[in-house]
Amino acid sequence: SSLDPRLPVWRTITEPVWLQGHGSETERRELACELATLVGIRHEYLDRLPHAFSGGQRQRIAIARALSAQPDIILLDEPTSALDISVQAQILNLLVMLQRQRKLTYVLISHNISVIRHMSDRVAVMYLGQIVELGTAHNVLNHPRHPYTRLLLDSVPRLDRPLLQHAGETMKTGELPSNRRLPQGCFFRERCPYASVDCGQPQSLTPLNETDGVRCWRAVAGS
Ligand code: SF4
Repeated sequence: SSLDPRLPVWRTITEPVWLQGHGSETERRELACELATLVGIRHEYLDRLPHAFSGGQRQRIAIARALSAQPDIILLDEPTSALDISVQAQILNLLVMLQRQRKLTYVLISHNISVIRHMSDRVAVMYLGQIVELGTAHNVLNHPRHPYTRLLLDSVPRLDRPLLQHAGETMKTGELPSNRRLPQGCFFRERCPYASVDCGQPQSLTPLNETDGVRCWRAVAGS
């Protein structure tokens, strides 16, 4: 839906370059052919409009457009959520290949833990707009410390372990608080199984070592 339905895709792919005033039309067309080939779109199709492409192809076109201005960092906001599962794998593998080839940094936003596990070197877990846990993907996903991260990971069914790895922990029932009326103290207090009077103070993201940090006094104390 981010592609202009009236623009041939070669123009869409090179729009960032055109906005920056770089290159002649011939040069931009050559760039579109090069990027289309890179992401797996046949360059004979570049005069077509977006509706002529499948969802996976449109996502490839969006990736080509992101690459056209030669960025160092790309923000990927739920890049595969609208795609079916087999196409998701193709797009993720394409992104990994491009990252290695072009030495890109991705900031990936996702609700899909499997996607995060497949793609990430570092992970930040957010709750109500705050980072509650930050660290290497291995540490956060395999040894989560914050109660919210632990409950989040336990909510994903896996074949290699029982559903509730952190037995006895369950989120308190109730609605997610509104971010217009944030809870006092720790934002997770109303749903945390370990909430106590000590959680009434705002929590800060506390470094645990060179790579990891957590926003919970109890996790910092190691209990
Ligand atoms: S500070 Fe308290 S309420 Fe917040 S996550 Fe830690 S134990 Fe739970």
